[in-house]
Amino acid sequence: MTRRIKIAGGGLAGLSLGIALLKRGVAVELHEALAYPRHRVCGEFISGVSDGTLGNLGIAGALADAERLATASWNDGRGLVSEMEVRGLGISRWDLDGRLRCEFENLGGVLHTGSRISAGEGIVWSAGRPRARGGWIGLKCHFRGLELRRDLEMFAAPGGYLGLARIGNGVVNACGLFTERHSNGLKGPQMLIGILESMGLGNLAGRLRNAEADAGSFCGVAGFQPGSQRGPAFSIGDAAWMIPPFTGNGMTMAFESAECALQPALDYALGKSDWDSAAKAVERSQRRRFRKRMAAAMGLHVFLTVPLALRTVLALARRRCVPFQTLLQLVR
Ligand SMILES: Cc1cc2nc3c(=O)[nH]c(=O)nc-3n(C[C@H](O)[C@H](O)[C@H](O)COP(=O)(O)OP(=O)(O)OC[C@H]3O[C@@H](n4cnc5c(N)ncnc54)[C@H](O)[C@@H]3O)c2cc1C
Repeated sequence: MTRRIKIAGGGLAGLSLGIALLKRGVAVELHEALAYPRHRVCGEFISGVSDGTLGNLGIAGALADAERLATASWNDGRGLVSEMEVRGLGISRWDLDGRLRCEFENLGGVLHTGSRISAGEGIVWSAGRPRARGGWIGLKCHFRGLELRRDLEMFAAPGGYLGLARIGNGVVNACGLFTERHSNGLKGPQMLIGILESMGLGNLAGRLRNAEADAGSFCGVAGFQPGSQRGPAFSIGDAAWMIPPFTGNGMTMAFESAECALQPALDYALGKSDWDSAAKAVERSQRRRFRKRMAAAMGLHVFLTVPLALRTVLALARRRCVPFQTLLQLVR
């Protein structure tokens, strides 16, 4: 006889933990405040996740046909700054979350959509980034007919950054993080393009204007602060640790935090531990796994978002004095 586990939040962290528990015979009830499928603000570029983690969670199949991304570049308003190699996957969140949701239900998980619940004993908190005054807006939109020079193109300018990633079927995802002062009165993809223009990324804005925007995929978020979060007990995913988006590691951390939560949740379900001990074990395990990469990412986030620091980094990078490849390793 096992205890049923409830999960609040059906993003990547909640769904993948739910699937892993179901595969081990635990009954799981998942509450998701909104609906599936839906577009989410995300660069849709996954990097650094190991086959071991995906296998342990039992979710490798959901990524089997994802686009393989190998080349990347950093650019500013003047053009190419640096090139590097990456090992990543591109896939739309519409597809990925939808596939995990189907797998969860196929395994017998009970899913309540349109259901917002509160934290409490026996409830894993995977409800995403908490609301906070952060001064950032995140925007994303899919485009067709947009020629990419690398699999992943990153652009930085005073006021924010944006990534273009191939996500398959000829679709490119454009997603960026901008300071709120750059928000304008425009709507949909035009808002994104207008922001890029106002940041001095006119060439990029022109490329997006000449491509075909999928207006239905446009979405935005505001009111969050990257870093370690003070969520309720037994928090996982962004609810516990939100890494700055430029790293392309937030989805990986959502999977890894589900992996950190798996054994403590099993111990609770099997009556081997109480909720408080299980919650503390999850917190310790995530701290060990994420502390260093989060510190590195938060440090680099300052360089990318403080105009003077960014200009200095870009000037040094043009002289090949910034080891982008090494920095990339530090945030994984
Ligand atoms: C601009 C931007 C770009 C990004 N780009 C990338 C990228 O390229 N690569 C990458 O790896 N990561 C990226 N990320 C980060 C990545 O999207 C997140 O780290 C990841 O989605 C976190 O998953 P999660 O399951 O923790 O949270 P979420 O995906 O946010 O899921 C939380 C879910 O909980 C639901 N919910 C909230 N409250 C409740 C409640 N009370 N009850 C029930 N349900 C609730 C919400 O509706 C939501 O569906 C980016 C983030 C931003 C903001």
